[in-house]
Amino acid sequence: MKNDILNTSIEFLKGVGPNRAKLIKNELKISKFKDLLFQFPYRYIDKTKYHKISEINSSSSEIQLIGAIKEIKEIGIGSKKRLVANFYDKTGKIQLVWFKTNKWLIDSIKLNTNYIIFGKINDYKGVKSIPHPELEIYNKDNLKKRTNLFGVYPSTENLNKKGVTNKVFSKLIEELLININKDIKENLPEYILNKYKLMGRRQAIICVHKPRTLSELEQAVNRLKFEEIFYLQMRLIKKNILRKQKIKGYRFEKIGNNFDDFYKNHLKFKLTSAQKRVIKEIRNDMGSGAQMNRLLQGDVGSGKTIVAFMSALIAIGNGFQACIMTPTEILSYQHYNKFIDICKALNISIKVITGSSKDSYKKQLKESLRKGEIDLLIGTHALIYDSVEFENLGLAIIDEQHKFGVAQRSKLWHKNKFPPHVLIMTATPIPRTLAMSVYGDLDMSIIDELPPGRKYIKTFHQTQRDRLRLIDFLKKEISKGRQAYVVYPLIKESEKLDFKDLLDGYETFSRDFPMPEYQISIVHGKMSNEDKDYEMQRFIENKTQILVSTTVIEVGVDIPNATVMIIESAERFGLSQLHQLRGRVGRGKHESYCFLITGHKKTKESKIRMETMEKTNDGFIIAEKDLELRGPGNIMGTQQSGEMPLKITNLVSDSKLILKIRKLVEKIMSKDPRLENENNLLILKNVKMIIEKKDIWEYIS
Ligand code: ADP
Ligand code: MG
Repeated sequence: MKNDILNTSIEFLKGVGPNRAKLIKNELKISKFKDLLFQFPYRYIDKTKYHKISEINSSSSEIQLIGAIKEIKEIGIGSKKRLVANFYDKTGKIQLVWFKTNKWLIDSIKLNTNYIIFGKINDYKGVKSIPHPELEIYNKDNLKKRTNLFGVYPSTENLNKKGVTNKVFSKLIEELLININKDIKENLPEYILNKYKLMGRRQAIICVHKPRTLSELEQAVNRLKFEEIFYLQMRLIKKNILRKQKIKGYRFEKIGNNFDDFYKNHLKFKLTSAQKRVIKEIRNDMGSGAQMNRLLQGDVGSGKTIVAFMSALIAIGNGFQACIMTPTEILSYQHYNKFIDICKALNISIKVITGSSKDSYKKQLKESLRKGEIDLLIGTHALIYDSVEFENLGLAIIDEQHKFGVAQRSKLWHKNKFPPHVLIMTATPIPRTLAMSVYGDLDMSIIDELPPGRKYIKTFHQTQRDRLRLIDFLKKEISKGRQAYVVYPLIKESEKLDFKDLLDGYETFSRDFPMPEYQISIVHGKMSNEDKDYEMQRFIENKTQILVSTTVIEVGVDIPNATVMIIESAERFGLSQLHQLRGRVGRGKHESYCFLITGHKKTKESKIRMETMEKTNDGFIIAEKDLELRGPGNIMGTQQSGEMPLKITNLVSDSKLILKIRKLVEKIMSKDPRLENENNLLILKNVKMIIEKKDIWEYIS
């Protein structure tokens, strides 16, 4: 593969050269032949269609006409100078306009000769014209050439400005296709091509760039999606198998006394059957001899914490240490406070570490941790600092994993000579196809059932106008003994302004809910850990009735007596975040409410978000909607495992295809896990190229 022509720099493509190569690389991140080859058009213009001038209406955009120019003249002066031509077909007249005129252009236009023109309709106060149309003399040869769909490629302003227009770009692709035609090799075995009636690879790639008909284009796109999904799934499943082969895990032989004792004597509620199932899955993994790498999904409030804790008890009962990493200090302390009494009763030593823990405390903690005197360590990312060393970490749990990056998670793997079992938990329900495509190499557990007695959280979208009614309502809830959260957005770019909003809001609420009848807490990221803990504690103990805060309480906070969630400037939150925030209420036996306060002006998208929230409590439906609105890249965010490797597949609209191919890949791998079968050798060759890197990080998701 060393001399693979596909790895040639585009600089050497006819029509590119060093300057353009640099430009294209900067603008589109395309540097090699293969990058260019897989830069597909994002839409197509149908140049087989011709329009009549009389048919042009306000919704016409790009059109193609046949007709002749009868008059042409320059008008205006100086910078306003432009060239205007009257273009006629049998049905009417339209103006063609060039804002930059030059003599060459004027001379080249032939009057009273038929042209094919193509361009975008410009509608200025009802007067329609076509600025800078493409012109081509109307004759048989030119007509023949045009019988296809014309690809429009992703571009940037800068590219256009520097002359790399779509037309130029298309030419480069054409040139490329001529150059490497022979080097596009089939990568799917014949039996798959036949079974799924797929177009050959070379034909498909040429066709997406230069389709002749719509149906041909559809087949080509389908074929390319197929191979993309196929090899993504292959890679993920193969990675999982390899990881299990390569990385032996601690075998936890027994459930252990701690677990038994807790289950019999301290568990305050009955586990849901989903919780039981998931604990069993985890138990099996940790007893299997292979290292566990499991993703636990469960909607907000589904009871993941207890699953985490009981899993930790298994590790501890087998003589190992366990840790739970949380994204916020508040959450670390919440877990710690929740477990501490039980741990005492079970004779387990538990400690907490966060960024703001005192140095002397940290020093001592690290020492006892190294000696194995601490069984369960809870903490924020402070827990993964190199100086934090375990004696024998058997299980690492990551709560709300979507808040962490891969690098942070991988660090946990290195906390031991031997990778511990890893359980990552998320409350952001990941749509199935997305989960399959991003976490396809993890084993997955799902808690798809809420603890009994949960009530539907009634959700209302309101504006400032409804404020008085809202205050009345809140007073009634508080008089019943309930509590409320008020959340303000705090988004990095305008942190100062946001902070002012929060403080103003706190003041307003203090006026509407005066002391001593009411007590209000405030919590935000800039407070010291002690102050935060103090304020949270007052709220937990129902000494304050309203907690005004930023999104520091977004994840995990669990105070069942709180029944009202008021989200200010709700239009500034994404769907998943709104759902997380709302999940802070509805955790107890009382009826709960969520109020989404927005301004009057809303974008279409934020309207859809509010409506979705009003309509459903179901995290999976919300996640699907979120995916649809924002696309996978944004959902997984920069915190997520890097770029989505999909170029042509759409996780939402192609979900059926993804499921189908996932099944196919699973079937192939279960029948022929080493891909030794003659039929599968081609697959093996391609998978090998993908997995050849032997670094352990490659196996981490
Ligand atoms: P999340 O999945 O969002 O982390 P938590 O673990 O915080 O949810 O659980 C939410 C609340 O439900 C907690 O107060 C917890 O004690 C309670 N809970 C969990 N499991 C059950 C159950 N099986 N029956 C009753 N309450 C439960
Ligand atoms: Mg939680």
